[in-house]
Amino acid sequence: MLANRVGWKCSNPDCRRETRGAATEKEDIISIGVASHITAASKRGPRYDEKLTAQERASAENGTWLCQSCSKLIDSDVHRYTVAKLKKWKKISEEMSTLDLEEVAVRKNHEDKELIKFFVQCFDRPVFKDRIYREGRMEDFDKAIEDTIIALNTGVLRTRDGSILKN
Ligand SMILES: [Zn+2]
Repeated sequence: MLANRVGWKCSNPDCRRETRGAATEKEDIISIGVASHITAASKRGPRYDEKLTAQERASAENGTWLCQSCSKLIDSDVHRYTVAKLKKWKKISEEMSTLDLEEVAVRKNHEDKELIKFFVQCFDRPVFKDRIYREGRMEDFDKAIEDTIIALNTGVLRTRDGSILKN
């Protein structure tokens, strides 16, 4: 279930390596994925949380799908790879797997060239091109960043006064 919810990719957002593929033999599969504990199953294990019940410790909620390398990585430095960080990774990866499914539909509906042109236009504003003097006030700067994020998320590019520039 953990693997399926992240499309069988590693849940480290900077890794996202595929964890499953074909082996040489006709029906064989190579798997380099690991269902890893967020907080350890055993008392001396990494990020062990004594407040959890045995059932909670074994639950899918306390697990995350990683490649073997990242699984080793998170258990090698518990100060860097905290429970909060791993839960965030898990959430991001689940969302990314859904976006991966939707991406095909997006590609079908738009010419890639048109999309790239649109993205370029989104970033074609003083806040990204020039030094801050053209967005002299912090509020203007914030607004420009916000407008760009909205444009990227909705596909609707607006001018400063709110009228639609491009769809
Ligand atoms: Zn990984």
